[in-house]
Amino acid sequence: MVGPRRSGGGDAAGAGSRGAGRGGRGWVLLDTGFNPALIGDPALKRRFHGRFFGITPVLPPGEGDPLLEAVAAQGLDPDSITAVAVSHLHNDHSGGIRHFAGRVPVHAQRREVEYGLEHSAQAEGNGIYRIDFDDPAVDWRLAEGDVEIAPGITALLTAGHTPGHQSFAVRYDDSVGGGGFVFAFDAADLTENIEEELAVGGRIGASPEETVDQIRRLKALARAQGLRLVPGHDPEVWPALTAELAAARGVPAGAVP
Ligand SMILES: [Zn+2]
Repeated sequence: MVGPRRSGGGDAAGAGSRGAGRGGRGWVLLDTGFNPALIGDPALKRRFHGRFFGITPVLPPGEGDPLLEAVAAQGLDPDSITAVAVSHLHNDHSGGIRHFAGRVPVHAQRREVEYGLEHSAQAEGNGIYRIDFDDPAVDWRLAEGDVEIAPGITALLTAGHTPGHQSFAVRYDDSVGGGGFVFAFDAADLTENIEEELAVGGRIGASPEETVDQIRRLKALARAQGLRLVPGHDPEVWPALTAELAAARGVPAGAVP
């Protein structure tokens, strides 16, 4: 959420796996976090999170919906979000799609949505929960490869972590100094995945080497275009970047969860 106010600018905000970039006439939200109902309801939690590789979902502090609170903390009205794009359908990224069903376009890769719907039993075992995104009201915009989804924001197919995982390049307009980011999301969880070119741990139908190829591709793209490559789940990078971007926009310190 730094500076640019002109068409073509973009930036990122939020914690964990959430981000937003500003397109021509509104904000583009990148990823949507957990569905808190699947965590707060004991029976749903038992079904969806009770047996998932020993991973314990942790929501940000606060009583309200974590996504809406994160948007509010950035000083934004949810209605200013005019499009959503999800990197993939893992439950910690797709749990907020429901907020946007029937309201704004939702961008994803076609093979990701097809996997989640057509192989839903297997997908659930892999942390992709159909309940998060199987809504006929969702206005899907399904890509088959790299595509510009909004001015300055390009989805990059980086399959491996999941069948249709995508990362995003967000470029600031030259009028505001250029530059920008490549958000790897789960194509590279941590800084060490990038620096040491380590395969990501979670993969669906892909070899470790294929995920390393995606990391190298993102590194090369970021280097060639002068963009900062941001790992998806690094516990130090995300909070620091969130604070940096919030400060650049004048959002009060401490307001951002
Ligand atoms: Zn994931």
